[in-house]
Amino acid sequence: RSTRHRTLFPYTTLFRSALHISTQFDAGAIEVVSLSDPRHIELKIRPDNASEFAQWFHFALHGAKGQPVTLRFLNAGACAYPKGWEGYQVVASHDRQSWFRIDTTFDGTVMTAQATPAGDCMYFAYFEPYSHELHLDLLASAAQSPHVTQERLGSTLDGRDMALLRITDVSGGLPLAERKRVWVIARQHPGETMAEWFIEGFLERLLDTDDAVSRVLLQRSVFYVVPNMNPDGAVRGNLRTNAAGANLNREWAAPTMERSPEVFLVRQKMLATGVDLCLDVHGDEALPYNFVVGSEGNPGYTPQVAALEDAFKNAWMANCPDFQDQYNYGRSEPGTANPTLATNWIAQQFGCLALTIEMPFKDNAQLPDAATGWSGARSKRLGASVLQPLLAVF
Ligand code: ZN
Repeated sequence: RSTRHRTLFPYTTLFRSALHISTQFDAGAIEVVSLSDPRHIELKIRPDNASEFAQWFHFALHGAKGQPVTLRFLNAGACAYPKGWEGYQVVASHDRQSWFRIDTTFDGTVMTAQATPAGDCMYFAYFEPYSHELHLDLLASAAQSPHVTQERLGSTLDGRDMALLRITDVSGGLPLAERKRVWVIARQHPGETMAEWFIEGFLERLLDTDDAVSRVLLQRSVFYVVPNMNPDGAVRGNLRTNAAGANLNREWAAPTMERSPEVFLVRQKMLATGVDLCLDVHGDEALPYNFVVGSEGNPGYTPQVAALEDAFKNAWMANCPDFQDQYNYGRSEPGTANPTLATNWIAQQFGCLALTIEMPFKDNAQLPDAATGWSGARSKRLGASVLQPLLAVF
């Protein structure tokens, strides 16, 4: 019987790849424990290259077309943010362009997901990836605008460029010295890829010459944009840290070129330009909402900054239902701010409004999308929408 079966379907066996998982590509990350049974594929989420943080994964599964597979992430409960797996859905794609969600179960230790690949190769990730090639495309595309100058601030530890985009309308508007200096930085935590999707949407709208909001902002402000604060960690598939294991958003009080050149170089440039407003874009593993975190725990937090912060949040809520101010980390008590965070250091140093923007890895529970969850496309729209509150506060 088995002989006749092989004779009847020779091509099936000739052309089917063996079951295999690969990670040797940009941000690839997973450890394979067992591939012997496709109904019990056993995986381990591996930590960042030089730190204990483990949460990011991104891999390709080969040779399982039309075959139901079960992926068991054995160490999910021991990862950096176990609450991140509650109500979480894995991100997956067949064409690496459109990413969809797959339900999971989490028993406190193991996270389990089931899929039946429609093709010979299927990709899985913690969130929709944003590759270094896309990052370079984003910089090159923005640099085509006459409003944009691209500055190389220096090198990362792995020798990548720290790139800054300076954006303003030099053909008309306020005298340069009177323009607001707006800094927008993203992806200090490299696994928070939604942050660079946010920047892509922000830049597309800011450079849209038919958009009245952008035109006015470019005549009144100079934007300094760092689309990726942590390119080494991004390529390495790290969740939180750079090549040396530094959590960049804990380096702002005293960065060094040896441990955190990314922060050192950007901070040095900020001290040279000055800052009137700063947005630092992130993703949150656990909370299914978009929200901001201010600097109210700083000794230098004033009623003026508080009023500006309220105006910013109210204008954003009025213009974008994906943003809300009900669910967040709660307010810090006065004097309890951690000065090593970008937002706190910047707000204190420059006496300005500085906000950490958090987007969900899961979904916006107030406006969920069962097919995609929170996604690259939705992050882009949120990034475009933040121009409205900027206009409101200026
Ligand atoms: Zn973050």
